[in-house]
Parts: sequence; C-alpha cells; structure tokens
Amino acid sequence: MSPDRNRLHIAIQKSGRLSDQSKQLLRDAGLKLSEAGKNHLTARAENFPLDLMFVRDDDIPTFVADGVCELGIVGQNVLEEYALGLNAPRFEQVARLGFGRCSLKIAAPESLNFFSPSMLNGQRIATSYPRMLARFLEQRGIEADIVTMRGAVELAPRLGIARFICDLVSTGATLEANGLAVVDDVFDSEAVLVRTLKPIDAAHAEKAHALLTRIEGVTATAESKYIVLNAPESALAAITEILPGAEAPTVVPLIGRPGHVAVQAVCQESVFWETLERLKAAGASAILVMPIEKMMV
Ligand code: ATP
Ligand code: ZN
Repeated sequence: MSPDRNRLHIAIQKSGRLSDQSKQLLRDAGLKLSEAGKNHLTARAENFPLDLMFVRDDDIPTFVADGVCELGIVGQNVLEEYALGLNAPRFEQVARLGFGRCSLKIAAPESLNFFSPSMLNGQRIATSYPRMLARFLEQRGIEADIVTMRGAVELAPRLGIARFICDLVSTGATLEANGLAVVDDVFDSEAVLVRTLKPIDAAHAEKAHALLTRIEGVTATAESKYIVLNAPESALAAITEILPGAEAPTVVPLIGRPGHVAVQAVCQESVFWETLERLKAAGASAILVMPIEKMMV
C-alpha cells in the first residue's frame, strides 16, 4: 500500500512504552482516531487529514528521514543515536512532549565502592546505544571497548560479557534487580515530535503546522493553571514574583475595595500548595487555581 499523498503521515510506536501516550496526545489535540485492530499497521484520523503508521520505535527516525512520514513521535534517545550516524540532518525536533522520560546511564556492579570515569579505560561496556556511548567516552578522553547488544543489556555483567553497561533507566529497579547501580549520566530523554527535512508541499506544510499548533497547545496546558486571586495593590510586585512562570498578569480593580485588586494569570509551571501558602503570606486572598483545557498562543 503506498501512502495517500493528500494526507499527512505520522509514525508512532506500534506497541511499547510510548504507544498509548502518543495516541492520547493526538486525541487530546482533537483528532478522532479510527480504531485500529491489533495487527493493523495504520489508522486514520477521521476529522483531520492525518494517517497514523504503527511501527517499531527504532524505525521511526528512518521513516521520518526518508519522508515516508512527514511527522513522528519517538524518544530522543532513539533519535539521537540515529542522527549520530548521519552525515547531515534529515529531520528536526519540533516539540518536546513531556512523556517517556528516561536517561541513558552508565551502570556498574553494586560491589564497586568508588567510581570515576577514568575507571572505564580499557574496560568493556555493553550498550544498545554505541554511538552515544562512543561520543560520551570521546568527550572524556576514555578508551574502552563498546559491546553492542540489541537488548537485555543489564544481563551483560552477570554473563561476563562486559563489566559496565550503558542503558536506559527510568526508576532504576531493573538495574537493582541485576545487582547494578548507576555511576554516570550519558543522556536525558523524553518523547518528542519530529518533522522531516525533506521538502514537503505547501498544503502539507500547512496541515503539519496546524497539527503542531494543536499539539503545542496540549503540551503547554498539561502543567499550566489559571490563577485568580485578590491582593492589596501594595503587594502586587511580591505576588507577581511568586507566580510560577506567569507573564504579564491581568490586574483589575475591585469595586468597593479601594487599594485592592484582582490578579489573573496563566502559570506555565506546576502550582504547588507551597506556592499558594507563599502567595497568602505575601497578602493574597481568595486564591483560585483552575485547570486550562485548551490554549492557543
Ligand atoms: P519496539 O518494539 O518499538 O522496538 P522497544 O522495546 O525498543 O520497542 P520500549 O521499551 O517500548 O521500546 O521503549 C520505547 C521508548 O520509551 C524508549 O526508546 C525510551 O525513549 C522510552 N522509555 C521510557 N522509559 C524507559 C525505560 N525505563 N526503559 C526503556 N525505555 C524507556
Ligand atoms: Zn525498539
């Protein structure tokens, strides 16, 4: 089946850690996705000219680089490893999506009491990310043997394949279960939206831009809150200072309460109870924090 060139195509992971949240992000962006059966390779957005292609995450950079899919959702770890093998960029990251967070880390046997990067000299390190590991070692002037494995990297020390490993970690539970501990940080990753650098026609580019604007709206509202509070005018400066990630709050007079104002602001960062307590201490009262459903800036 050759792709329908009147529609946009987005490559997302078929099944794995990123699949559900990738689809949810598209739904949150207002797309009505046709239900794809378990073995379907594609699905269609019914109310937007977009087709979804379900592939292995490792194939997503290739699909986007070749322009088979104009867009893709994939972890920065997979993208960076692929990009390091290219002579020239073939895609660009257009949005960070805030899920699929993990880090590529060096781990050593727990029995190791002390670690310094120079201890990697002359050692064998097992990884599925040989290019990123090679760059890490090169930047530190370390010479080590990289043993490339497709999976089950955490078993390498126990099997006597390598003393150290360089693998993705989110909670560290897998490492711990294998008697390993993190000793160094190589790369921090989250899921991102990527766009091909292959020229695309104007109509496609416009659709892609519209989708991107919606996706940015979704990711921007994920943490954002709308705050409304009352405050004495004299406390305005202090209060604005405390509001997390708010720019140019709206200030309106309160009828019948001279010297007092209502402040309204979009806060781009999480609002914690602690923030509310600080606002109150600075003179704010009647503080309301509301979720934002949609936002277009
Ligand atoms: P595929 O079948 O698509 O090749 P996979 O087994 O390679 O799947 P997953 O384990 O589903 O991939 O991970 C997909 C992505 O999820 C990773 O590339 C990474 O960006 C992200 N991720 C988040 N947390 C973790 C973690 N703890 N371990 C591995 N990947 C993680
Ligand atoms: Zn994979």
